[in-house]
Amino acid sequence: MPIKTKRITILGSTGSIGKNTLDLVARTPDMFKVEAITANRDVNTLAQQAQEFKPKLAVIGDKSLYKELKLQLKGTAIECAAGSEGLKEAGARPSELVMAAIVGAAGLTPTLEAVRRGATIALANKECLVSAGEIFTREVIENRATLLPVDSEHSAIYQVFDFDQVERIERIILTASGGPLRTFSLEKMRKVTPEEAVAHPNWKMGAKISVDSATMMNKGLELIEAYYLFPVKKSAIDILVHPQSVIHSLVEYVDGSVLAQMGTPDMRTPIAFALAWPKRMSAPSPRLDLNKIGQLTFENPDESRFPALRMARESLDAGASAPTILNAANEIAVRKFLDGEIGFLDICQIVEQTLEKVDNISINSLEDVFSMDKIARHTAERLG
Ligand code: NAD
Ligand code: MG
Repeated sequence: MPIKTKRITILGSTGSIGKNTLDLVARTPDMFKVEAITANRDVNTLAQQAQEFKPKLAVIGDKSLYKELKLQLKGTAIECAAGSEGLKEAGARPSELVMAAIVGAAGLTPTLEAVRRGATIALANKECLVSAGEIFTREVIENRATLLPVDSEHSAIYQVFDFDQVERIERIILTASGGPLRTFSLEKMRKVTPEEAVAHPNWKMGAKISVDSATMMNKGLELIEAYYLFPVKKSAIDILVHPQSVIHSLVEYVDGSVLAQMGTPDMRTPIAFALAWPKRMSAPSPRLDLNKIGQLTFENPDESRFPALRMARESLDAGASAPTILNAANEIAVRKFLDGEIGFLDICQIVEQTLEKVDNISINSLEDVFSMDKIARHTAERLG
């Protein structure tokens, strides 16, 4: 049977998820045609990717690098654009599939452009769903877009979640590695450097999500992400620490069956699942050797050392703008930590104080999301 080529846009092509996506695209040249790629500041990698994959459009977020991009792509037929308008344009270009792999709420606008033209969205950018869950999912439904999770836990759940028997699902269980500081005392955590915090034991990821894994805010964001992706009650989403990252998540049914998806910790597996959906494609991820692993272990998360989990749960329960505030404050606090302005434990302190200071108001539009995001960022900037 002939393979139908899908046009693919990669928002955030120079990041960890973006590069893994292009790695799969390069291995299956008959399956994909790259429509557009984007980066924030890494103009060299963007230009090199453009030379290799020949998209119609390459966009650099930072406008001051536009000239450099043009220069590097001189003599090619590749169109160049820059700034927030350029990023929006990338989302709007006609492609069947969009990999949303920009980090943070910055990915919201370009991803929504793709949603509004009814594209299939492979969503890595969880901050989109945390910051604007109601609005984002409403737009997906109204525009008949398709939303596929890329986050490994949500991909796992998606693969074993029977959408035709939602009422027969009792619980979903998100697994968490526990991050690089799983066994650290609070005293030890206080002195953690950015280098230590980004050194994840199982996954190689961008700096922001690596710090989120160290604070376990990543799992908190994933809790909120799960609520918007799967039709289950807030109280039916549990978190379980599983340091080996072999079971990527679980779904429990009313008959007591618990279904899991497993694999080695390589993002090319969940990315491949989203790229090929509803079919499967091959991915070069190392194969799972359970005999070699020998033992899988589990423990409950410790909210006293990882308060991000409690804050995320409370924000989800409170609803309205609380998740938007949580996400924005966390983005600022993580940036401050990575820049050496604050200590590791200050990250969650800043998030907590921002949640206390900023009033939780109802969210009725995208403008409300942007406005609350801005207020929370401004508040968090002045803390710590
Ligand atoms: P990364 O930092 O490696 O890459 C981020 C990408 O976004 C880069 O291409 C960068 O140029 C672009 N970008 C950053 N700021 C931007 C801005 N303001 N405007 C436009 N573009 C911008 O991050 P990553 O690890 O690839 O993660 C990307 C997203 O995927 C995050 O939301 C993360 O939570 C999610 N995710 C990542 C992994 C992983 O294994 N890396 C796993 C699950 C989910
Ligand atoms: Mg994850």
